[in-house]
Amino acid sequence: MRSCGDCRLCCKVFPLPLLAKPAGEWCRHVCAVGCAIHGPGKPDVCCQYDCYWREHDALSEAWCPDRIGIVVTEAGSVTVGYRLLPVVLFQEDCSVGVSLANGSFEPASEASLGDAVRGLLDHFVSRGVAVMIIHGLDARIEFDRARWPGISADDIEAALRYELSQDAEELKRLGAVGDEYRPLSRDEAEAACREERGS
Ligand code: SF4
Ligand code: SF4
Repeated sequence: MRSCGDCRLCCKVFPLPLLAKPAGEWCRHVCAVGCAIHGPGKPDVCCQYDCYWREHDALSEAWCPDRIGIVVTEAGSVTVGYRLLPVVLFQEDCSVGVSLANGSFEPASEASLGDAVRGLLDHFVSRGVAVMIIHGLDARIEFDRARWPGISADDIEAALRYELSQDAEELKRLGAVGDEYRPLSRDEAEAACREERGS
């Protein structure tokens, strides 16, 4: 497993309700060596977080989260129409000038950064992995439609919402979600997707 080096990006991009930290703002405990909290006061969710880039030495150095502005998290597999799709989450740092979330690439300050972001997305999609890209309040799904015919992005998003919510109690225990987070039924997960899209 890699070390984080100078990267601290997961301490910025994720919300941390336990510390009243919104997504996209630096945690007040970030310090020069990483996290200023040592021992039992450190939130469980921070201790147990599995960063995909840190765990997979084979991934390019160019995809280090703080170089590319994206933190990748494995989200297991979701069941869609009797098929199991592996999913990863891309949590984007909104202050970086390259975004995948709106379906097009915004002008990048460096062309090479745009190439790296594209390469990271291709790495997963070409392997049959669906990618949920989260940028602030926007989110969209990228996946290989030829490999997964008859499945829509909405199907994947609803399945992901449903399956993540089944772990509500564990996520609350870890401090990753607020007290209001609860398990959804399939219908509720689908309705939540429709509502967000205004359809
Ligand atoms: S995003 Fe990954 S590499 Fe960066 S600080 Fe967090 S765990 Fe370490
Ligand atoms: S508590 Fe520490 S590890 Fe957790 S987000 Fe804050 S700085 Fe990062």
